[in-house]
Amino acid sequence: MAIDLTGLTAVVTGGNNGIGRAMAVGLARAGANVAVWARNAERSADAVAEIAGHGVKAIAVACDVADETAVAAAMDRTVDELGPLGCFVANAGIAEAAPITEMTLETWHRVLRTNLDGTFLCTREAARRFVDQGTGGSMIVVSSTISRYGGAGQAAYAASKTGIVGLGRTLAVELARHRVRCNILIPGWTRTGMNTDLQADERFMKATTGRTPARRWADPEEFHEIATFLADPTMTFHTGNEIVVDGGYTIF
Ligand code: NDP
Repeated sequence: MAIDLTGLTAVVTGGNNGIGRAMAVGLARAGANVAVWARNAERSADAVAEIAGHGVKAIAVACDVADETAVAAAMDRTVDELGPLGCFVANAGIAEAAPITEMTLETWHRVLRTNLDGTFLCTREAARRFVDQGTGGSMIVVSSTISRYGGAGQAAYAASKTGIVGLGRTLAVELARHRVRCNILIPGWTRTGMNTDLQADERFMKATTGRTPARRWADPEEFHEIATFLADPTMTFHTGNEIVVDGGYTIF
């Protein structure tokens, strides 16, 4: 049976690009109204048009997820325009690579600020809404397979993505009594704007696809349905799961 999210309000941070955009489109296809949060609302115009093309309401909200005041304001605007919150996807993230011996504290803080502080601030705001509404709801936090194996040059990114796993599990435990579910999405290598430099690196592509049982990277469109499934209010027992979408990369 197809999942029906008609009338549900969903937020996707970083929903203007890549994996976030794919999840936002999937939610819209199932009938959800979607707020796309990203730093620059103008850069979200194209994504919002695609989402609205599925016959739902879609808005672009300018919000740096690591700015506490901006997150509160973004939530107020979202709920004012689209109605009570039903699903929150904390997807926005950045990656910056440097060997540990050369990684500056500034780089470390930049990555941790967006990925971990941002996910904390957004999920805290969503949790407050869900608890106040008394409606229950679904949260999805986006980690990475790097949380399972680390990665050379990725100290800050791996630390942030591993932290998100701990945060997501804790939200699942703490919020279950409010009928708020939290699941952790763990994508593997996916062709997005985040890694165009790596996609152009033949040796790297050969090494990573060679280690992947599916023998390729994912396309963002392969994330269309995952948020839809996790947002579905009938999935009442699905919480605290780590959903790995990596073509088998982390089996070994
Ligand atoms: P993209 O670079 O394509 O998209 C990232 C999005 O995050 C952009 O829309 C960007 O919008 C937004 N964003 C970045 N910083 C902020 C901020 N401070 N506040 C609000 N929005 C912000 O990345 P992906 O789609 O590849 O990544 C999505 C998520 O998936 C990330 O958390 C990433 O770590 C994770 N992931 C990605 C993998 C991959 O291989 N691509 C693998 C594993 C995990 P704007 O710049 O307009 O603000």
